This record gives sequence, structure tokens and C-alpha cells, in this order.
Amino acid sequence: MKILIADDSSVSRDLLGTMVRKWGYDVVSVSDGTHAWEVLSGPDAPRLAILDWMMPGLTGPEVCEKVRDKGGESYTYILLLTGRTQKEDVIEGMDAGADDYVVKPFDQQELRVRLRAGRRIVELQDELLTAREKFRQQATHDALTGLKNRAYIRQILAERMDAARSSSIPVGVIMLDLDRFKLVNDTYGHAVGDAVLIAAAQRIQSVLSDSDVVGRDGGEEFLLVSSRPSLDLAALAETVRQAIAAEPVVVGELTLPVTASLGYARLCPRADADILLRAADEALYRAKHNGRNRIEPGQVEGC
Ligand SMILES: [Mg+2]
Repeated sequence: MKILIADDSSVSRDLLGTMVRKWGYDVVSVSDGTHAWEVLSGPDAPRLAILDWMMPGLTGPEVCEKVRDKGGESYTYILLLTGRTQKEDVIEGMDAGADDYVVKPFDQQELRVRLRAGRRIVELQDELLTAREKFRQQATHDALTGLKNRAYIRQILAERMDAARSSSIPVGVIMLDLDRFKLVNDTYGHAVGDAVLIAAAQRIQSVLSDSDVVGRDGGEEFLLVSSRPSLDLAALAETVRQAIAAEPVVVGELTLPVTASLGYARLCPRADADILLRAADEALYRAKHNGRNRIEPGQVEGC
């Protein structure tokens, strides 16, 4: 684990550096408070810091305050190094946001175990963040295909529509439904159906650009949101249709032809998300009705 050592005394700095290196830490050392703050607020900052109290630039407690004011996701554990032993001084340091303090001249073993306690806190916090990220992923993504789930893709649509109102970048949606998918499930079972869904999701994603987002809207239905300066929904829908139908999906011994029907609709100033989605859905229905494996444009009310 990386650790910052900030001390204006080179003797103290070198001593500390040698010590904590021996305990397995990677050391970054600086000789004043301003540089300490730069390192702690910079990219890939150390999560553990030993700050001398009195330093040029910013004092140890001042660096603490700045770090705590900045906030942010990942916690920085700060240990103040001080020659001061007055109770008020200690309180001042802790009030500034330090987690712990060690009085100079310090005992090596004491410093070692205090750093270990800090390290444990940083590691625990990392585990919490990882767990939270995992839950967030589960809450926003479809477990089977890994695509965004219905709630999340619709949230993205709402955000893109908001952005479109303040910029001139057009927004559109494409609704896609795999043709005769129920037949696959009924004939070969859900495992095969799932394999087809995964393959379809991959094929859709393979032709999308960075400005397009796709989610599984439910069952065998997918929702694409696209916003780009030169939005050509018909071309995008046709590209997606071809990508899906290009070759059959092979599942074990089975070779299954897969096609999709698509309806698309472009946002106009007066439409809201419901109107836009309804237009795309009606177009999708028409694509089914007109023979499947095809795309149809939607008519947005009032546009
Ligand atoms: Mg000093």
C-alpha cells in the first residue's frame, strides 16, 4: 500500500521512509504541506499519510482539513506526527480531521501497529466500495445479458432527452423484439432461449457507437437510445437488424436462425418519453405485422 510521508526535516523523513518501507509500504515523500496536499488531492493518491505537524506551506492539520473538505469516495487515513503533547494540541489535530497521532520521538513498534490499524480501515472501506459497486451493477444491469436493465435504460433515455433540450443534439429510440422467440423457448427450453438472448445482445452491442446505449427492456425486447449530431435512426436500425440476422446462433448441436423486428422514433421538442416510446412500439408492431425481420419508422404525435 502506498503511503505519503510529509516532513520538513530530511532526517526525520529518511528515518520514517526507511522504516515504513521495511514494513512493506510504498513511500511517497515530500518536505512541505503544499506538496503533501498536491499528492493527496492528485490522481492515484496514497490512502495512508503520515503528516508532520509543523511544515512550511501548510501545516499537518491544515492539510487534514483540506483533505476532509474535499471529501470524495475513498478515504485517506491520516496520522499526525507531533512534538506537541498538550491535550489541546491533540484535540486541535483530531478536530482538523486526523485519524490518529504519534508523538515525537516515536516508538517504532507503536507507529507500526498504528499504521496497521489505518491500513485495515482503508482496506475495509475499499471492500465496502467494491460491494456497493457490485450492488449498483446488479441494480442497473440485466444479469443474463449484462446489458442495462429496463429501469436504467429508461433513466438514460430521460437524461438524454433533458440534454437534448439544452443542446441541438437529436435523440431517438429503437425498439427491437426478437422474432418468434417464444417458439425457441417452447421448443428447446429456456437454456437455449437464454443463449439466443445473450448472442443477440452481443450482436447489437457490436455495431453500436459510443453515443448509443442499449438495454434489455424485458423478455426478448431491447431498447436502444441514440443521440448524435447526425442521427440516422433508419440506418442504425438497419445495421442492427442485419447484425442480428447475419448468421444463425449456434447452441450446442442446434443452429438457430435469429431475426428481429425493429421500430424507431425520433424525439421532437413537444414529445415526452412516453410518446416517443409509444411511437417506437407502434412501429415495432407494424414491423411484426408486415412480415418481421424488418424496420419501420414511428410517427411521433404532434411532430
Ligand atoms: Mg516539522
